[in-house]
Amino acid sequence: MQGEDFERAFKQLRDKGVKFFEVVFQDLGGVLRGRVLKPEKPDDVARGFRIDAFSTGFSGVEDSDATLLPDLSTLRVYESSIGRTGFLIGDLYRGGKPMETYPRNLLKKWEAESRYKVLLGAELEFYLARDYKPVDNGGYMYVSPYSTVYPVIAEIVTKAEEAGLALKAAHHEVGPGQYEVLPTPMSPLALSDAIVFLKKLIWEAASARGLQATFMPKPFNGLPGNGLHVHISVHDGDRNVLFEDGELTEEGRSVIGGLLAYTVPLILFTNPTINSYKRLVPGFEAPIYLTWGRGNRSTMIRVPMGLRGASGVVEYRLPDSSGNVYLKALAVLYSAERGLRERVDPGPECRVNAFLADGYPRIPGTLGEALEKSLESIGKAPELRDLLSKVAELEKGEWRRYLEEAGSPEASEVTEWEVKRYFLG
Ligand code: GLN
Ligand code: MG
Ligand code: MG
Ligand code: MG
Repeated sequence: MQGEDFERAFKQLRDKGVKFFEVVFQDLGGVLRGRVLKPEKPDDVARGFRIDAFSTGFSGVEDSDATLLPDLSTLRVYESSIGRTGFLIGDLYRGGKPMETYPRNLLKKWEAESRYKVLLGAELEFYLARDYKPVDNGGYMYVSPYSTVYPVIAEIVTKAEEAGLALKAAHHEVGPGQYEVLPTPMSPLALSDAIVFLKKLIWEAASARGLQATFMPKPFNGLPGNGLHVHISVHDGDRNVLFEDGELTEEGRSVIGGLLAYTVPLILFTNPTINSYKRLVPGFEAPIYLTWGRGNRSTMIRVPMGLRGASGVVEYRLPDSSGNVYLKALAVLYSAERGLRERVDPGPECRVNAFLADGYPRIPGTLGEALEKSLESIGKAPELRDLLSKVAELEKGEWRRYLEEAGSPEASEVTEWEVKRYFLG
């Protein structure tokens, strides 16, 4: 059956002039990997490929064979540096069963078993650079035609739409050379797949013009970082249960409570790299305290003003795009769901500039502290313990190497070591 579906899909691809296709996946650390193939032998593809699960973070070295099976529902066609290309995301299997340490498999399972219909939107921030320097001098919502990269952004939007991915908006962000694109709300799995594809599309568009695109959380000292703010809504039929008559409902408050309660246990999923914590410093609209507010861009959770009813969202401003995106969606889905089930009270809202306030609990300030605090509190999210241990193992290695080769534990400056390791993804 799967073979026939592939046969049909690949015939369409050949008819559309597709010369190559890619089967990709994010490894546990979020690096995009995959194979480039020709669409002539659909059967081989339908059967999958053997890959090394050890080098990709998913297993020990003693038991490292896994099969990458493309998920045909993720198929998109776009113009990449090798011509008209089919794009497929794959899943990892072992002994015919989905691998439990592969985040996309887990997210699929959690989404299918979820009691609530959660939709996620996102703001994907990135810098366009030339020789590791921001490419323009623009700022927030800069629209001047003097910007030499205006056409790149137009191209990204057009190509995403041609590939069947609708974007809500795209605009220049606060930093020079910094941009943001916003996919429309969808299921957590679909959104994660969309982010994987969008990042690839943005890299391709940048590289075609001799530029670099970076999603690194804090690429430049003294300039704003790159976030991946996540917008959450919860639906019952055509009703968004988080808002009623323009106000947050009990459910809305519970989602905020859940996010606040599970931020620390799951922070290695949302903010997994050394560089993640260099973004979380005062003064750049990135959060530093575990707070929530309305229309307040100094808080970790924001309820945007003027968005209510069906389009109302709770915005989680902590995540960045480093690491595996399926882990982030899983963290958000888990926190929202637990908040709703347990009716978690978010406590009082923060009405002041949190950067100038005191007395709020702090978000961990380094990867070292994040490792310690999340492992200490993971008892609160027992179903995710195994996956968290796997991620923690990987990040402990990163932290050790960083301390040996580059930084001191408290350093807040971005190091060359980080730029080398994370700038190009
Ligand atoms: N760049 C900021 C961050 O790191 C967000 C800025 C904004 O979207 N207003 O989260
Ligand atoms: Mg925005
Ligand atoms: Mg933004
Ligand atoms: Mg935002």
